[in-house]
Amino acid sequence: MHTQLNLGLCRTCEIFGASGLVLDSLHHLSDKHFQSLSVSSELWLPLLEVKPAELADFLQLKKSEGYCIVGVEQTANSQNLQDFRFPERTLLLLGNEREGIPANLLQMLDVCVEIPQQGIIRSLNVHVSAALLIWEYTRQHLVTRSNKVDSQSS
Ligand code: SAH
Repeated sequence: MHTQLNLGLCRTCEIFGASGLVLDSLHHLSDKHFQSLSVSSELWLPLLEVKPAELADFLQLKKSEGYCIVGVEQTANSQNLQDFRFPERTLLLLGNEREGIPANLLQMLDVCVEIPQQGIIRSLNVHVSAALLIWEYTRQHLVTRSNKVDSQSS
């Protein structure tokens, strides 16, 4: 998280049942802006600190645990969000507000997904992008889960 606008991510993750949020520093928790935007969601969502220099190792670890590393980024090879099926074990990697996802981490992605755009402006804000992907993940997996429950109970 690098800008104030992204501080609301914690609330979004908690509301949609993300299993955790990884931040570059847990110092954000004592920030007044963070507290006012996160409305105590940080108490219910597991938060983990991974320094930018340790991100590559962290992603490697998550890969070995079976996570699909999904980059949220506009690239020549990105899949369209409308066509993408999220694996249950998905880790979303967001880019920096200005530079996007660093090149060394782009290489490590299992897949890159982009939100189709219509307008003139080049890109969305990080939190908005994250929220759209988290919602789509939730939509796909909520439907699957409720179907499973329905078929078990009938
Ligand atoms: N790469 C952008 C700058 C980053 S925008 C540029 O060159 O202008 C900040 C972050 O928001 C990106 O790294 C990405 O994670 C996300 N983002 C913005 N627009 C997006 C889109 N249409 N699809 C997917 N992710 C997007």
